[in-house]
Parts: sequence; C-alpha cells; structure tokens
Amino acid sequence: MNIKIIGAGLAGSECAFSLARHGHSVHLYEMRPVKSTPAHQSSNLGELVCSNSFRSAAITNAVGLLKREMQVLDSLIMRCAESARVPAGDAFAVDRERFSAELTNSITSTADIRLHREEVSTLERGDFDFLVVATGPLTSDPLFHAIDDFLGHDGLYFYDAIAPILAAESLDLSKLYWKSRYGKGDGADYLNAAMSQPQYEAFVAALLGAELYPLHDFERAAHFEGCLPIEEIASRGIDTLRFGPMKPVGLEHPTTGERPYAVVQLRKEDLSDEYFNLVGFQTKMKVPEQKRVLQMIPGLENCTFARFGSMHRNTFINGPKHLRATFQAKKDDRIFFAGQITGVEGYVESSAVGLLVARYIDEIARSGSASPLPVHTALGALGRHVAASAPERYQPSNVTWGLIEDVVGRVKKIEKRERQAAAAIRTIEQLPGVGQAF
Ligand SMILES: Cc1cc2nc3c(=O)[nH]c(=O)nc-3n(C[C@H](O)[C@H](O)[C@H](O)COP(=O)(O)OP(=O)(O)OC[C@H]3O[C@@H](n4cnc5c(N)ncnc54)[C@H](O)[C@@H]3O)c2cc1C
Repeated sequence: MNIKIIGAGLAGSECAFSLARHGHSVHLYEMRPVKSTPAHQSSNLGELVCSNSFRSAAITNAVGLLKREMQVLDSLIMRCAESARVPAGDAFAVDRERFSAELTNSITSTADIRLHREEVSTLERGDFDFLVVATGPLTSDPLFHAIDDFLGHDGLYFYDAIAPILAAESLDLSKLYWKSRYGKGDGADYLNAAMSQPQYEAFVAALLGAELYPLHDFERAAHFEGCLPIEEIASRGIDTLRFGPMKPVGLEHPTTGERPYAVVQLRKEDLSDEYFNLVGFQTKMKVPEQKRVLQMIPGLENCTFARFGSMHRNTFINGPKHLRATFQAKKDDRIFFAGQITGVEGYVESSAVGLLVARYIDEIARSGSASPLPVHTALGALGRHVAASAPERYQPSNVTWGLIEDVVGRVKKIEKRERQAAAAIRTIEQLPGVGQAF
C-alpha cells in the first residue's frame, strides 16, 4: 500500500516507521524547517516541545502500562526513548536532543519512507491508498481550515480546557451529597461540595493568590469567554464564580433543603465510578497550587489527583463525533487521524495512536477491515476514549486507569493494577504478528 502521512512528529514518525516495517511505502510530509510552529525550535522529527519526561515507568501506572504495550509492539518511539533514557527516579525521562536525533536518523535511513520537507494544506489523498493526518496540537492554519471544512465546521477545536480529575476513594463522602441540578436526569448524577460564605470567600482569595503557569503568546488569543480558567473568572469579581461554575441554584441539600452559598460539582468520569471530574474547573494554576487550593473544598481535603487541570493551545477533533475507534474518519474510511489531534494528550499517548493507526492500516491492507484492540489494554482504551466518550463534553485526555476496562474487580489497589497490567500485556503479546521478525 502507498500511504501519505502529514506531520513527522511523534505520531507521524511512529506510524511511518511501523508501516514501512510491514512492507508499505510511505511518503511523510513535515513542514519544519520550511515553516515552523510557535513551540518547535529545531528541524528534528519528533521534537519534544516541553518536558523531557515520558512520565511514570511503573506498569501499575496507566502510562507505564501504555509504554510497555508499545514496546511489545516494537515501537520506534520507545526504542529511541530507551536509548536516550536518562536517570530520573521513577520517571522515564530522555535526553531530548539524542531522542529526536535518533528518531530522525531512523526515519531518514528507512528505505520505504520518503521524507518531504513541505507544508501540506489540503486533505487530498491523490493516488495514495490512505492518508494519515498527524499534524499535532499546532497544526498549521491552512490545514486547520481544510480539516474544519472536511468536518463540516462542527467539532475541530484550537484549545483545550481540562478540569482536574480526582480519585473517588480519596473523597470524604460524609461531606458531599448526591444531586443533579433541579434533580434532572437520574436526579443524583453529581456529587456536590457545599460552601458557606466564609468558606467561599477564603477559597476565592486563595484562587486569586495562586501561582499560575504563564500564558504563551500563542495561547493568549485562545481563551473563549465561555470556557475561562476558574482563576480568571474569580478575578472578575467576588461573586462571579457563584454565578458561574459554582452556582448553588437547584442544588439545595436533599435532607436539610438548605441552599448553600456556593457549590462545587463533581461528575463521574468513568463507568466504574473510580474517578470524578471537577465540573468547569479548568485552570492554569501550577500543580502544587492546584493541590493547595482545591483541597480547601469541603470533602476534598485529602483528594488525590488522577489528572491535573490545564488549558493549552491545542488543535483537536471531537473524536466521538468524527472518528472510529480505529481512528478512521467516519466521513472517509481512507483518511486516518493520529496523535494529539484525535484528542489524546501527551507524548506517549500521541505516539501510541501513531502505532495503532499503522497497525489498523496494515490489518485493512491484509484482510479488508480492522478491529480495535480490546479496551482492557491501555492502547485499546485510547481508541474507546476517542470514539465513545460523550461528544458534548469531549476533551483531550491522558491515558488513565479510568479509561481502561476493569477485568479484575474488587481487590486491593496495587494488586488490582498489577493484575490488570498483566492481563493487558498478555493480550498484546498474543496479537497476530507480534514478535514476528522483519
Ligand atoms: C506547547 C506544548 C507543550 C507540550 N508539552 C508536553 C509535555 O511536556 N509532555 C507531554 O507529554 N506532552 C506535551 N504536549 C502535548 C503533546 O504530547 C505534544 O504536543 C506531542 O508532540 C504531540 O504529538 P503529535 O505527533 O500529535 O504532534 P507533534 O509532535 O506536534 O507533530 C506534529 C508535526 O506536524 C507538523 N505539521 C503541522 N502542520 C503541518 C502541515 N500543515 N504540513 C506538514 N507538517 C505539519 C509539525 O511541524 C510537527 O512536526 C505539549 C504540547 C504543546 C503544544
């Protein structure tokens, strides 16, 4: 098969290399250095634009499991990361220069990959059998508009607004109550943390004093009025949060009937009720500040974070609206999206989707169709996140245990993670073609 890939970042490079190893011919288009993005600084492929960490190395951590699964599938990104690895305690960190130099070298020395240093501004597939769009969170403007046209101007975004996710077991349920606003839906879909006036005022003061991540210039224009960080809302007046995401109306306490002064709502994040999302609490607060300030909320004093809140410039597609679990566009099965643009978040997750897309294209080439990987694997869980999340509140996500199907049930947490990881790795190891020499 002949495949055109746009974007030679983490996902595009991973996808290209894997396809070439499976005997396909790849034309890979990268606009740098002819045209750069606001964050990249070099012409290297797979440049890591910020941290040099691939996060936890432990397979009892969801991202650790994802890396292990990628290694089983012989990921190029993981091979380059392993050879550029630097000591970093429990984390998997790399020498970024060496990492992207090795990646660039692997791509340019692979006979079946032809690298074109040029910007692509349309989704035309031409004579290629498949097109893969892997242009990342900083997709260039002309291509952004082409994708927007292709999707019917419905579901392509240019920034994300991520609220923190908390582990359910860390919440003090004795201080929280179940209720949906005005009793809508099942009447009790949300957990609510009520605040008195002094609690609310102390909370707003802490928000206003919190240290924030600086906004990059290219992020300044990205904030929409409808989706501001909570500290920005708080800065507009003492009551603004109480009329926004902390509105108490319709959330009277179910037993006392009292209306709180302000309320923080927590929404279920996963089917097994292990994680909760702080509704409307996207934030630019630094990570230690998120802990300090959000633990002031009654019932959250000892909360642990499965994901911290953030807001970034980020081009991404509403996956559940437009993509299948195989990352094919619903509008055209021969067009795939890969990497962060699908609504996954992070170096490892973006690379993982590149690897998955290569696998699915190869499967289609061999048998006519592709089946998504099982959702109890970290890889398969990414496909489910992209294709089966609720479209009306779709936001990019790192891989978390909340996304991965629980096949173990109720046992102690560490044993559960070990058994889940073992089951997932076994499944990946048993996939057709795994371990095959090229
Ligand atoms: C500022 C910033 C900081 C980040 N920091 C981190 C972090 O610390 N840790 C983390 O895990 N994740 C981070 N991310 C998120 C994400 O993991 C990375 O952006 C990751 O590189 C995404 O991989 P990707 O392959 O999807 O996109 P990229 O790695 O960005 O690759 C996309 C490639 O496509 C090229 N391209 C774009 N448009 C075109 C076009 N029209 N034609 C041809 N080529 C094009 C780009 O030049 C780029 O090389 C960050 C994102 C941003 C924006």
